[in-house]
Amino acid sequence: MPAVCCDSVVLDQIALTESVRLLSASWNDPEHLPHAGQFFMLRCWGMGEGPFLSRPISLHYWDPGKKMVEFLYEIKGEGTRRLAQLEAGDAIQLTGPSGNGFDAQAIPQRARLALVGGGIGTAPLYQLARELNARGIRPDGYFGFRDEPFAMESFRGLCGVVRVATDSGRFGFHGLVTEMLEPENYDLILTCGPVPMMRGVYSKCAAAGVRCLVSMENKMACGIGACLGCTCHTKEGPRSVCKNGPVFEGSEVFGE
Ligand SMILES: Cc1cc2nc3c(=O)[nH]c(=O)nc-3n(C[C@H](O)[C@H](O)[C@H](O)COP(=O)(O)OP(=O)(O)OC[C@H]3O[C@@H](n4cnc5c(N)ncnc54)[C@H](O)[C@@H]3O)c2cc1C
Repeated sequence: MPAVCCDSVVLDQIALTESVRLLSASWNDPEHLPHAGQFFMLRCWGMGEGPFLSRPISLHYWDPGKKMVEFLYEIKGEGTRRLAQLEAGDAIQLTGPSGNGFDAQAIPQRARLALVGGGIGTAPLYQLARELNARGIRPDGYFGFRDEPFAMESFRGLCGVVRVATDSGRFGFHGLVTEMLEPENYDLILTCGPVPMMRGVYSKCAAAGVRCLVSMENKMACGIGACLGCTCHTKEGPRSVCKNGPVFEGSEVFGE
């Protein structure tokens, strides 16, 4: 089902840290049901008023009952700065849901799973944990942050263990999230975060013979597979993150 462009309304926006925001917006399209790992192109500015392009943000949470979607994002540049100015009742354009996402339905119920998130890369993993729990699968969660963790409470009820690492050592394990991970304890590892972290997760998984799925967040322009701006080099050749991804087999992207 192709993505749809929808004029939506901001329901709420909360600051979780100085630079991280949780934004909820209305989403009531019964023909376009989003799932974990998919993303929407967000826009709250007219042509000529702000950045030319909309900004891709992952689905963090979807509540069909409340007819709303939630986005967890970090303020980086002009697009996200404008999103951060939105208040309840403001208009926002959502185009999506886009991309393949994680296929939680295809994961065997008895599989031992770990989610590994780095910084704002934890955003898509919350909806994934919810979808896995709905199938009776309780993953473990490993999350790395530079200094200050955020949005961890929401994972606690959904994961077997939640382990947090910080580069600064201010919270949890002092070091990289990859240092805490023992892939041999799992059948499948699903990860999203900075590329060096995902490469590290993949390398440990490959050494242990464990399958690893990675969600890529390349810089993206059109979001519909037309411009090839988000091309990712894979073993099978160039693939667009927006159309063929953002979720890939780790071996396709980081394999030898
Ligand atoms: C499929 C997908 C899902 C994403 N999901 C989320 C999400 O859930 N939450 C979230 O906070 N961000 C997410 N991102 C990243 C987000 O789209 C960018 O941070 C955002 O577009 C930056 O826009 P801006 O105008 O604020 O900053 P810009 O002015 O465009 O850029 C500011 C800085 O951010 C860097 N940057 C821009 N785009 C990216 C990117 N894609 N990845 C890494 N660095 C980037 C630039 O190099 C620059 O240093 C996702 C990206 C993709 C492709």
